[in-house]
Amino acid sequence: PFDFQGKHVTVAGLGVSGVPAAKVLHGLGARVTVVNDGADERARAQAAELEALGITVRLGDGDSLPEGTELIVTAPGWKPDKPLFTAAAQAGVPVWGDVELAWRLRGPDAAPWLAVTGTNGKTTTVQMLASILKAAGLRTAAVGNIGVSLLDAVLGEESYDVLAVELSSYQLHWAPSLRAHSAAVLNLAPDHLDWHGSMEAYAKDKGRIYEGNRVACVYNVADKATEDLVREADVEEGCRAVGFTLGTPAPSQLGVVEGILVDRAFVENRQKNAQELAEVADVDPPAPHNIANALAAAALARAYGVPAKAVRDGLRAFTPDAHRIAHIADVDGVAWVDDSKATNTHAAEASLAAYESIVWIAGGLAKGATFDELVAKSAKRLRGAVLIGADRALIREALARHAPEVPVVDLDRTDTGAMRAAVHEARRLAQAGDTVLLAPACASMDMFADYNKRGDAFADAVRELGSVEG
Ligand code: ADP
Repeated sequence: PFDFQGKHVTVAGLGVSGVPAAKVLHGLGARVTVVNDGADERARAQAAELEALGITVRLGDGDSLPEGTELIVTAPGWKPDKPLFTAAAQAGVPVWGDVELAWRLRGPDAAPWLAVTGTNGKTTTVQMLASILKAAGLRTAAVGNIGVSLLDAVLGEESYDVLAVELSSYQLHWAPSLRAHSAAVLNLAPDHLDWHGSMEAYAKDKGRIYEGNRVACVYNVADKATEDLVREADVEEGCRAVGFTLGTPAPSQLGVVEGILVDRAFVENRQKNAQELAEVADVDPPAPHNIANALAAAALARAYGVPAKAVRDGLRAFTPDAHRIAHIADVDGVAWVDDSKATNTHAAEASLAAYESIVWIAGGLAKGATFDELVAKSAKRLRGAVLIGADRALIREALARHAPEVPVVDLDRTDTGAMRAAVHEARRLAQAGDTVLLAPACASMDMFADYNKRGDAFADAVRELGSVEG
């Protein structure tokens, strides 16, 4: 294990990963300096808390490398091209992210990691996986961006048999020595390209999750890029490539046959060549992309040796988090669905594919995305569209190009109240049997604190509508 005693460690960024990392490193005897770009009220409060422990904090100065730094531990969101990292590279100072730190600090008998990444579906899949592992009687937790933090899981009182770990592309970028038991890349679509610099760099960071895998690299048969990443990875001898598909599975795959999730990769009874796991109806919601998530979770659990029955029990026990295709209400025969978590075009495409006749509420921050493909693929399902947010013109133009017959209401608003107005416009466009779907395909920060607040604003407005109309 790494000896931090007396080491000069710079923690880059306060916040959810920086504050606990600084405390842990300080506790291990390191001489910690925290650097942070901002100096707002929250940062000042966090700085005061750390300074009381004897940790040095530099607010409003996230770009210069403190003298004598031997290691940087960075918040995952910090961009690789920041001057701090250029200076570190020149000085030969290594940079670890929060995941790398947790990985290095885990004990010798630490629980193995079953890791999940992908552009969309990570949280859901990791939660399904934890539910399956629990149903098998294992001590486990869903960790990463959700629930328990990685540092707590690794250093806390609680002991685990195995961890279900969600990893973002940022975290993977900063985690060079991570080696999972098994890992899955759910899908790969352009997202966060402004951070990574290019699609190649983004894919390369995601692909790190397979490096050194021991038992299985799980990939999406429908998304060839994920399979390519498996092929490029350097894995332990005997590690298998395991695909998941919504169609009939080939050998070494999990898939769906007549409404049953089946496993042809890890068959328990050698007399058979496939194992039945669960029914499609056991998956909530049974939308195609979510069945894919369930199959990926099952593949990782099965790689760990979990019996088929636990897959079914675990999937039945699972309920999705808020704002992920959440059915809010039916008003006059129109279903209102909150998928505020659809913050990119790939996610929005999956949720639009789950309904037939849709009034679509979309818009926000595009993060460099284009909307032509999404709109072209979804055009025939659209009854109408209501656009809000900063980058709505991009969606309006794509609709004009690929779905000129679809009525569009451009609200030309970015205030918080715009969601209520959008719900009213959607109400006018919708007919009985339709679904009004909030699937913004954009980030929320132009109008809301986060996607939760955006979804809440939608749900509140829908409930108001329901109670007014009776
Ligand atoms: P993440 O943690 O990767 O952001 P979530 O499980 O929170 O993923 O799901 C985010 C959104 O992505 C959902 O609201 C849904 O719109 C969409 N989604 C979920 N799973 C998939 C998938 N397998 N493929 C495409 N889109 C998906």
